Amino acid sequence: MSANPKLVSGTTHDFRLLINGRLIPGASSLDVINPATGRVLTTCARADEAQLNQAVAAAKAAFPTWSATPIEQRRQALLRVADALGARSAEFARLLTEEQGKPLAHALGEIGGSVGMIQAFAAMDLPPKVLRETDAERIVQQHAALGVVAAITPWNYPMILLMMKVAPALLAGNTVVAKPAPTTPLTTLLFGELCADLLPAGVFNVIVDQNDLGGFLTQHPDVAKVAFTGSTATGKKVMASVAGTIKRLTLELGGNDAAIVLDDVNVKDVATKIYQGAMVNSGQVCLAIKRVYVPDALYDAMCSELAALANAAKVGDGLDAATEMGPLQNKVQFDKVKGFLDDAWQHGKVIAGGKTLDREGYFIAPTIVRDIADDARLVREEQFGPVLPVMKYSDLGDAIARANSTEYGLGGTVWGADLDRAFDVAQRLTTGTVWVNKHLELSPDIPFGGAKQSGFGTEMGQEGLEEFTQSRIINIAK
Ligand code: NAD
Repeated sequence: MSANPKLVSGTTHDFRLLINGRLIPGASSLDVINPATGRVLTTCARADEAQLNQAVAAAKAAFPTWSATPIEQRRQALLRVADALGARSAEFARLLTEEQGKPLAHALGEIGGSVGMIQAFAAMDLPPKVLRETDAERIVQQHAALGVVAAITPWNYPMILLMMKVAPALLAGNTVVAKPAPTTPLTTLLFGELCADLLPAGVFNVIVDQNDLGGFLTQHPDVAKVAFTGSTATGKKVMASVAGTIKRLTLELGGNDAAIVLDDVNVKDVATKIYQGAMVNSGQVCLAIKRVYVPDALYDAMCSELAALANAAKVGDGLDAATEMGPLQNKVQFDKVKGFLDDAWQHGKVIAGGKTLDREGYFIAPTIVRDIADDARLVREEQFGPVLPVMKYSDLGDAIARANSTEYGLGGTVWGADLDRAFDVAQRLTTGTVWVNKHLELSPDIPFGGAKQSGFGTEMGQEGLEEFTQSRIINIAK
């Protein structure tokens, strides 16, 4: 590994693994690409299986003391981590833009949200509950820590998705081995570096792989729980691999979220919100709007508004202050979305975008597609990119059935002026979250999780915290 790789931003940094409180070089190194240029941004440490085992062993060794530490002290430690991250938010945000591609303002938002996520969990509690108290008996429910948690994250929101796992896991008394996606490891490594000074050795560990160690981590007999966010395809492998040891498992997987527009909306206003909900983070959001259903009478107007917004968007390097939309995060995803563009041209009418940008990096123009059949790939599959299909409906029941006709069940939106009617439609969608007249509002105190093949288990909220614990009933005869 080169000792002082140079970042585009002009800073130098030696990105190391965090194992047992020590920042160590990897067994080998990994090139990290800046998606705005397609060129190497820097290199970082990459672990091998032996280092993965060391990280799990360190987390296992740290568990008895950390889980026995009073929750008040764990809370204070988390708050120190949040403060330290907040104090370095500009540095983290810039690095996030450089490795992930999103506009700097959005990266700052993600880091701010990460600080808020840690603080929100630090404010929660896991009090024991007296379930029955009589002259003859006392029955108490406690929430015991599980042990070592493997936190596995994708490349679209590397920091906030990590915090949704690490903060509740640590508050509840678990220890953690984190493994970021190989194309966005840098912010997680920098976060590990920050934690090295703030948490006891072994409580939090970071390893980096090249998509080759995840299976070893999820199978590891000393890992008690896997908290996984990623694609449904990988989620299925994770689910199979934890079966051998009956590990606890949370799966936050893919989605193909529908937006249903009702016939009483203001088209211009709703088009702006739908456009944002579809194109934020270049469409690389599990809960992004990925399909839109519009009534006949509003269809042409809605398509024109969406196309105008796409045509006006400023796409570019996230470090450029004028940029509204950055590149796709990596070459594999870029090529995958190009496949969806081909599908769009073949099976629909492309009314904005439809092409890559003629420059270096993984840029795709925001694309709106109309008159596309329900069985086109772009409608059936998760595109995870800035290519939005807009479909027409004449019967609301039929639109709901089409929205539900997918193996996914993550989120969805309903847009309508009559709130009773919109609420009625919302309750007929088979997803874990439905927003009405707003989108992507995720709060640390509101539980979040998918239905069907979008996963199971809950993140955030009290329920999300309790997923990092084992219920223990103590039943006493007096
Ligand atoms: P991915 O499944 O390819 O990778 C996710 C993580 O799993 C990475 O860290 C990867 O290295 C690791 N991994 C790869 N193979 C593994 C294995 N066999 N065992 C264990 N871990 C393994 O997903 P991605 O392409 O990085 O992310 C995009 C996907 O994530 C999209 O489908 C998106 O919808 C989904 N996502 C879901 C949510 C949610 O909360 N539901 C949030 C963000 C992203």
